[in-house]
Amino acid sequence: MALATSSPVSTSVRQARPGVNLDVLRRRVAGEIITAGDEAYDGARALANLTFDRRPLAIVRAESTDDVAETVRFARGAGLPLTVRSGGHSVPGLSVVDGAVVVDLSRMKRVVIDVEQCTARVQAGATSGDIAGPAGEHGLAITTGDTSSVGMGGLATGGGIGFMARKYGLTIDNLLSARVVTSEGDTVTANPTEHPDLFWAIRGGGGNFGIVTEFELRLAPVGQVLGGALVLPATREVIRGYLEHADAAPDDLTTIANLMHAPPAPFIPEDRVGEPVLMIFAVWTGGIEEGQRAFAPFRALAEPVADAIGEMPYKDIYMFTAPQAEPHAAIVRSMFADDVSDVAIDAALAAMERATSPMDIVQYRAQGGAIAQVSSDATAFAHRTQRYFVAVLGLWMDPTEDAAPHQAWVDDLWQQVRPEGNGVYVNFLANEGEDRIREAYPAVTMARLREVKRRYDPENVFRFNQNIKP
Ligand SMILES: Cc1cc2nc3c(=O)[nH]c(=O)nc-3n(C[C@H](O)[C@H](O)[C@H](O)COP(=O)(O)OP(=O)(O)OC[C@H]3O[C@@H](n4cnc5c(N)ncnc54)[C@H](O)[C@@H]3O)c2cc1C
Repeated sequence: MALATSSPVSTSVRQARPGVNLDVLRRRVAGEIITAGDEAYDGARALANLTFDRRPLAIVRAESTDDVAETVRFARGAGLPLTVRSGGHSVPGLSVVDGAVVVDLSRMKRVVIDVEQCTARVQAGATSGDIAGPAGEHGLAITTGDTSSVGMGGLATGGGIGFMARKYGLTIDNLLSARVVTSEGDTVTANPTEHPDLFWAIRGGGGNFGIVTEFELRLAPVGQVLGGALVLPATREVIRGYLEHADAAPDDLTTIANLMHAPPAPFIPEDRVGEPVLMIFAVWTGGIEEGQRAFAPFRALAEPVADAIGEMPYKDIYMFTAPQAEPHAAIVRSMFADDVSDVAIDAALAAMERATSPMDIVQYRAQGGAIAQVSSDATAFAHRTQRYFVAVLGLWMDPTEDAAPHQAWVDDLWQQVRPEGNGVYVNFLANEGEDRIREAYPAVTMARLREVKRRYDPENVFRFNQNIKP
């Protein structure tokens, strides 16, 4: 089977009305408009997940909020499907769909740090890496994606579970204000006092309510951290120990653990490449000596395959996850869980033995800490008390490769671990249907989201997302 070139959504895309004249839009926006036949078209329509191969009608590389507003008004007026692309890491590939007008924010990447206020004004096209560098120059940081290329537009409207989440919460917990273009093409400010309902909804409700062009974010005083990767042999005892220690650790320690085959990397001994390992990426934000004590229980779990934990500026954590920033093919299933049983651990270990790609991963993230200290009704991201995030990630490099074996590998393990799930993170949902979207939001949250949707987007202009029906 060849890779899917379209998703279930593309078949429902409305066709462009005859007589659509993009020159009208060209006269109204400063940004470039790219269409089929342009040299830049193939690059501009590409997403980070190479399984998607979509052909939009036009890609509008917005230069400003006004460009975004003009494009929304134009697409809406012409009855054209409208999508928004910031960093292009959409798991379901919904930021670029067949026949759509794509609002592409990749040129809107400005990051302005206010050192005195410890805040940053960040345009939505900036990536996680785009912020870490400039903020770090002032001894500041914000927890964003685990991979430098993940875009703020999608991340900071869905949640943002990052490398300091246990200490500083989700990215959305540090959102002070946002500039939003509504489905009418109006530009509004959403914060606790202006459009508070919209402000609540865009913190977890995804792209359903408008296009955010700029975020104002609180930064934390973070200079040097103790972090990097601790690589342990993959056994049931190691994974169980990781889950327990990571959950019990002080909030200063946030970890993301990948059960995977040891990849070639500067910190992995060459003769250990290919061994099944638990690769624990970690960031400790407290005092360095205390941090060494916090890592001790993890180091005691087994003789490490590699120990690359050291003092570093926060931004350097992205060097450890650099391979996943490169475009690749991916099939993703994920869930939150209150616990992970030995049966599920054994299923994951057995799955690694029959992996269809050397890049396949079962990922565990210990949640808790500051994530759980925010009340579940404070933002639209409500799943705050589950202890773990678990994902099955079928990953491979060549998108022309037959996807069927990878899909079967993911499906098989997913069926085994899924019964332990309790909710799902909207930003890691693929195209999995209505029931799973409902899993992303408790009923009371969903009801409130629909109310806000009816107020701000009654015609469902913003529907290429994990859609909240008005
Ligand atoms: C390799 C990889 C690593 C990841 N790591 C993490 C992680 O550590 N933590 C985490 O929380 N998530 C992570 N994610 C998930 C990530 O948060 C989502 O995929 C997110 O949607 C990506 O945002 P983007 O702007 O890059 O994506 P895009 O593809 O540009 O957009 C995805 C969707 O977000 C919405 N959207 C995008 N921009 C805007 C905007 N400006 N205004 C309103 N809505 C918008 C739209 O609905 C769009 O379809 C990861 C994903 C990948 C592929």
